[in-house]
Amino acid sequence: MRIVCPHCGERPVDEFVPYGAAGLKRPDASASTSDWLDYVYLRDNKAGMHGELFYHVGGCRAWLIVTRDTRTHAIAEVVAARDQRDAAR
Ligand SMILES: [Zn+2]
Repeated sequence: MRIVCPHCGERPVDEFVPYGAAGLKRPDASASTSDWLDYVYLRDNKAGMHGELFYHVGGCRAWLIVTRDTRTHAIAEVVAARDQRDAAR
């Protein structure tokens, strides 16, 4: 699999470290233990398009959000996590 980094261009997946699902909402500090367990351990694991965080450790060292189809591993979009965060503000 190859990932097109918005900063470095197309690179082998070996240069990236996957971190997990993107877009998780961290519970409030006063949330219940059940809410924290869900946040830390439970994932939907759905078939289809899925956003994941990747760290480009072998390149620009940026955090990226990679949207890929979990059935085919086809990548639909790669954006810098910082850009997506700034757009949401
Ligand atoms: Zn990069």
